[in-house]
Amino acid sequence: MAGANGSSEKHEGFEVPKVEVKFTKLFINGQFVDAVSGKTFETRDPRTGEVITRIAEGDKADIDLAVKAAREAFDNGPWPRMTGYERGRILHRFADLIDQHIEELAILDTVDAGKLFMVGKLRDIPGAAHLLRYYAGAADKIHGATLKMSQRMQAYTLKEPVGVVGHIVPWNYPSTMFFFKVSPALAAAGCTVVVKPAEQTPLSALFYAHLAKEAGVPDGVLNVVPGFGPTAGAAVASHMDIDKLSFTGSTEVGRLVMEAAAKSNLKPVSLELGGKSPVIVFDDADVDMAVNLVNFATYTNKVDKDQYEKVLKYINLGQREGATLVTGGKPCGDKGYYIEPTIFTDVKDDMTIAQDEIFGPVMSLIKFKTVEEAIQKANNTRYGLAAGIVTKNIDIANTVSRSIRAGVIWINCYFAFDPDAPFGGYKMSGFGKDMGMDALEKYLQTKTVATPLYNTPWL
Ligand code: NAD
Ligand code: MG
Repeated sequence: MAGANGSSEKHEGFEVPKVEVKFTKLFINGQFVDAVSGKTFETRDPRTGEVITRIAEGDKADIDLAVKAAREAFDNGPWPRMTGYERGRILHRFADLIDQHIEELAILDTVDAGKLFMVGKLRDIPGAAHLLRYYAGAADKIHGATLKMSQRMQAYTLKEPVGVVGHIVPWNYPSTMFFFKVSPALAAAGCTVVVKPAEQTPLSALFYAHLAKEAGVPDGVLNVVPGFGPTAGAAVASHMDIDKLSFTGSTEVGRLVMEAAAKSNLKPVSLELGGKSPVIVFDDADVDMAVNLVNFATYTNKVDKDQYEKVLKYINLGQREGATLVTGGKPCGDKGYYIEPTIFTDVKDDMTIAQDEIFGPVMSLIKFKTVEEAIQKANNTRYGLAAGIVTKNIDIANTVSRSIRAGVIWINCYFAFDPDAPFGGYKMSGFGKDMGMDALEKYLQTKTVATPLYNTPWL
């Protein structure tokens, strides 16, 4: 954030204003408050490993307060009772405020998640505002159907908000993930929400809570409670008064939250989980394009400390399993958690590095001879998040797109996202879409209202 003295630092060759963290407390019922326990935890800059600031540490007691506020706002507050048009106008104002703070928000994600400042400034933060506007525009277009029943009856369906929604999000796209979850829920007929950001990246979520209030989102509608997974996160998953749970993170934790939901109030769950997304390059492909796309697919985002250690373990394992390390494989830089871009060849389908999600800058090259073999290898994973296809042959592109069991296929492109394009996995990459009109459905429930027509005896 621009300091009072306008101080700035050089970063990636750009002058960027210096970070100044304004919001470090939990946001519950429209107020920034300390944790009930009084505890705080540190959030670090993964580029240097240095502590940025301390954040109030929410746990079960704070989640209880946030859910109570969200429940009250849903059961008795104005948000679900106002028209979709009014809710949409507030969400548009929220998006306008994001636009006015793009640099401040981009810097928060840079220091918190180690993301590139320009990626935040040009893509993540404007993308978040775009997503919010998409759903703001949808808020007054939610309606059911009219049904002509047999026996001289008629019925109609109502699309009703599911209620209080719990959102648990990961650290790799703090702003994007926040709005993947929050914007359709708020637009969908007026749900209220409790967000548990990742412990690594709470800063931008708290800033968004402040902007939401400034935009006119009523108190209790949007609550943000930073804290750790096994405490705050688990309290969201098992809460008896949360009506729906939407989670993005690892498959391992996804299983835990689904279990907790099943053991508590059977709240419906949507999961966006890990992936092992292949990019299939056919021999007719434009080689320069293929190289650019696989680089983009593998080396775009950044890792944190735990992830850094995990990635180095996988690189070691790849070598022990007999794959050939062509380049990279080592940490780089003298601070932060950076690893060289790494490429393995001679990778066999059953090797751990070919099967597990590594979630780091490691590429495994696997050869194939026929289209059928490419499809078989691409499907030889428990995951099904996404896949890339690089070819000029439209018949191959169409056939392979239909044959791969994954939620998104990118042909001659990669990471092509749009608010109108649903995103979410197949198989163990989860279920329930973010983005697109599909995402609204996660936060709506359908009620059927039936009645006999005039002069129709019933019973
Ligand atoms: P993670 O599963 O460790 O954590 C995600 C969130 O869950 C965090 O907020 C964490 O605090 C919380 N959590 C941890 N334990 C919990 C528990 N017992 N109960 C409730 N909540 C708990 O994931 P991560 O390490 O933050 O992120 C990386 C993972 O997320 C990768 O596997 C990646 O593939 C996945 N991811 C998937 C998508 C997608 O769109 N499918 C997007 C981003 C990240
Ligand atoms: Mg983790």
